[in-house]
Amino acid sequence: MPKVNPYPNVILVDHPLVQHKLTILRDVKTGPKQFRELVKELAMLEAYEATRNFQLAETTVTTPVTETTSYVLAGKKVAIIPILRAGLGMVEGIIELIPAARVGHVGLYRDPVTLQPVEYYSKLPDDIAERDVLVIDPMLATGGSAVAAIQLLREKGAKHIDLLVLIAAPEGIEEVIKRCDDITIYTCSIDSHLNKHGYIVPGLGDAGDRIFGTK
Ligand code: URA
Repeated sequence: MPKVNPYPNVILVDHPLVQHKLTILRDVKTGPKQFRELVKELAMLEAYEATRNFQLAETTVTTPVTETTSYVLAGKKVAIIPILRAGLGMVEGIIELIPAARVGHVGLYRDPVTLQPVEYYSKLPDDIAERDVLVIDPMLATGGSAVAAIQLLREKGAKHIDLLVLIAAPEGIEEVIKRCDDITIYTCSIDSHLNKHGYIVPGLGDAGDRIFGTK
């Protein structure tokens, strides 16, 4: 069974379909085409969980049989913010589920001297302050990029931000909780630890390379 979740700010998406797909995703033999399809499917299933508490309003609909009360989404609009580059792999699955969402991008690199994330690109919806924000990145490793992206979005006025990852290391979760304690993190797995190269163990290797077929 998936590892128990000791973190109140973390939602572990432990649905059997998710766990099955995650196993194939981790497999070193899985090639880029299938890897991309699985990232898309997992992102969609995770977004289904992350949107569970979206606000509804009552409406009336006429079916072929009768008029009835029914419900439509009535909360804030959504912004999906992939952290470049691996986050791009999750966009398609989520936007299929929320087609009215806007997509912004945040690019960060790690300064080789300070090891701190530095922003090299950002393009966000103008009305980011009025939207519910889903920050997406398949891997939550040290948490440095996620925290930097969340801080950037806060500076631009974003209020409600959720972080959606596919695999999280405890180190990354703890960093996000320490620096951004009002964030909910959605993940399909809480893995063991980071190795000395910053890879999540057991993880799946470099998510960006596996999505885009680079090395
Ligand atoms: N980023 C990845 O793509 N993989 C890891 O294991 C850690 C960070």
